[in-house]
Amino acid sequence: MARALIIGCGAVATVAIKKCCTCSEVFSEICIASRHRENCEKLAQELRPNTKTVITTAAVDADKAENVSKLIKEYKPDLVMNIALPYQDLAIMDACLECGVNYMDTANYEPENIDDPEWRKVYDKRCKEQGFSAYFDYSWQWAYKEKFEKAGLTALLGSGFDPGVSQAYCAYALKHQFDTIEEIDILDCNGGDHGYKFATNFNPEINLREVSAPGSYWDTDENGKGHWVEIPAMSIKREYVFDEVGKKDMYLLHHEEIESLAQNIPGVKRIRFFMTFGQSYLDHMRCLEDVGMLSTQPIKFQGQEIVPIQFLKALLPDPASLGPRTVGKTNIGCIFKGTKDGKPKTYYLYNVCDHQECYKELGSQAIAYTTGVPAMCGAMMVLTGKWNKPGVHTVEEFDPDPFMEALTKYGLPWKENFNPVLVD
Ligand code: NDP
Repeated sequence: MARALIIGCGAVATVAIKKCCTCSEVFSEICIASRHRENCEKLAQELRPNTKTVITTAAVDADKAENVSKLIKEYKPDLVMNIALPYQDLAIMDACLECGVNYMDTANYEPENIDDPEWRKVYDKRCKEQGFSAYFDYSWQWAYKEKFEKAGLTALLGSGFDPGVSQAYCAYALKHQFDTIEEIDILDCNGGDHGYKFATNFNPEINLREVSAPGSYWDTDENGKGHWVEIPAMSIKREYVFDEVGKKDMYLLHHEEIESLAQNIPGVKRIRFFMTFGQSYLDHMRCLEDVGMLSTQPIKFQGQEIVPIQFLKALLPDPASLGPRTVGKTNIGCIFKGTKDGKPKTYYLYNVCDHQECYKELGSQAIAYTTGVPAMCGAMMVLTGKWNKPGVHTVEEFDPDPFMEALTKYGLPWKENFNPVLVD
């Protein structure tokens, strides 16, 4: 019996909220809040007749910690689930600390304004010291570790699929399958087709920023020292045959969980992340980038200030609307190389999810589904005390077993392959 404040009511949050409502014994009360309360209320009205979960709604602009604090003080939740955007992570964490409430999210912090000079100073230093130039990294949220520890509060970071389940898979492999893991390849394949020439499967601004950035991976030199290797965007391409999907081109990307896994998987030497893209997606993205449409820098247009990528978002199909038209499957998982009982071993742990099955069950496509279900399961772990560790933690720092059990129960069972084809 617990009370959760859920900030965000978009594609991912909708799935998480619908799943919370199927589990009223844990989520006995939820409050859905975002800037446009009418969207939260519309969803609440749809769900109220069929759930025991008591649903209220609120309007909140979570860009400001004081707005979130005010709502927390009124609602008094046991956990704040941040399923808005990564821009709000720090403000919501500040509010949780002020009010003494546990926190979770699905993506690590990145600033909305990457031209902010204060942020730039820290960013430039990090690029030089760490060797990767993505706009998002864990340092901002890891800086809250001590404060959360002292307050006796748990902050769970990145409880989606990747980040999220991908790290639970690593923890599971280490706990049950390996003595040491040397290499991890995270493969994210979306074999779905929505019929549009170009659309993004989740928030376009966040998605396009991620995909158009340089790629990078974790590697280890001959002296055993781990370091980042950065490469131009989309410059490492591989072909892979995915179970239940087939052959796809995939590209090496920077991805946030590499950063935490490099710290938390002892002895790991290489971690890479690959995502599949079709040629049409890549051609459109390159063209949009070349003409400046991916810029976050405001420009003056006919006397009005507009941000090109936000204007583009208004033109693109809403990711939440892709559900009815998307057919095909996703296949997301990790291939491990390491040792067990002194012998070399390889192992592939993955999930296959069908877009149309997700749509039939919850009215959403599989990308929102595969993110929203782990968000709900992560929240459940914190609320039931199974994942209770004061501080700021990523998913691989917790026991994977109850989480993976919950994933299976709520729609994301895993598959194993003990002799996988490796990625060269
Ligand atoms: P959407 O754009 O569909 O939804 C975002 C939601 O956030 C909206 O309901 C919006 O409502 C709300 N929001 C935005 N700004 C604010 C604000 N200032 N205050 C309060 N609410 C706000 O995004 P998605 O559902 O596609 O993505 C949600 C999150 O999931 C993102 O952080 C994304 O990066 C992450 N994600 C993680 C994945 C993973 O595997 N880990 C995979 C895919 C996504 P309103 O406009 O009413 O404020």
